[in-house]
Amino acid sequence: MADLGNPKNTIEILNKYKFVFQKKFGQNFLIDTHVLEKIIRAAQIDKDDFVLEIGPGIGTLTQYLCENAREVVAVEIDRMLIPILEETLSSYNNVTIINEDILKLDLKDLIEERNAGRPIKVVANLPYYITTPIIMDLFEKHIPLINVTVMVQKEVADRIQAAPGSKDYGALSLAVQYYAEPYIAAYVPPNCFMPRPNVGSAVIRMTLHKEALVKLEDERLMFKLIRASFNQRRKTLVNSLNNSYELGFSKEQIQKALASLNISENVRGEALGLEEFAALANKLSEYTKE
Ligand code: SAM
Repeated sequence: MADLGNPKNTIEILNKYKFVFQKKFGQNFLIDTHVLEKIIRAAQIDKDDFVLEIGPGIGTLTQYLCENAREVVAVEIDRMLIPILEETLSSYNNVTIINEDILKLDLKDLIEERNAGRPIKVVANLPYYITTPIIMDLFEKHIPLINVTVMVQKEVADRIQAAPGSKDYGALSLAVQYYAEPYIAAYVPPNCFMPRPNVGSAVIRMTLHKEALVKLEDERLMFKLIRASFNQRRKTLVNSLNNSYELGFSKEQIQKALASLNISENVRGEALGLEEFAALANKLSEYTKE
């Protein structure tokens, strides 16, 4: 089958099947061979890899994955794309197409069955309307992963990679960085897609930490602290934590915990790194035991 990274071939197959783009599924297909090669390099794909692709579309990136990986499973929600994928991937015997919503699929089961539970790589040009739920679902469900390399909206990539103190830093940066190390491999302009999205894009690789960066008594408490801190970004940490309905600590307890960690009372959440949020969560969890 001809390389779909060439726009002429993409147009030909779309016309053949009279395919109508579904806005609700975030369909923007890649039509640039350089970008496709960059994604394969960024994901560090080799012949040992089992790769899960989310949203293969007409199979453009899937073709590149099949060429470079041992085995590929591609999960596509739009049933109108299934006959197209059967044609565009017909020359590969290392690919399985599943017509399902990625958020409804039991990935742990799939990996157990297809890869003996060993960690996999995830690669995708993600549908932008559900980028964050897809990424967080992979991490929070503790799916066995080596890395996750995805095309996302540029602003989302910047937020994921942001460091404390920067304007993009927030709950998403901390949530991802708790599980993985992010690296933006490329920025990609709208003309590399069909149809063109209204926003710029970026390829970001998130490599799972082999060992946890921080030790937590209560993981959920740390994420509650993070949410409370960034819900009221302009307030000092003491006030945002004290105002939160999700928490239940007195102002005195929060002040005491901060003092014991040598963190100023007037600091804002956006100045704290993951280690500090973890230390604060561990300190405050002592009070829940009292
Ligand atoms: N991988 C193709 C490419 O790069 O040309 C298509 C990428 S397009 C941005 C996103 C794809 O994800 C579409 O094919 C869309 O139908 C599919 N998709 C959207 N929501 C999905 C979901 N919940 N589960 C699985 N696939 C989904």
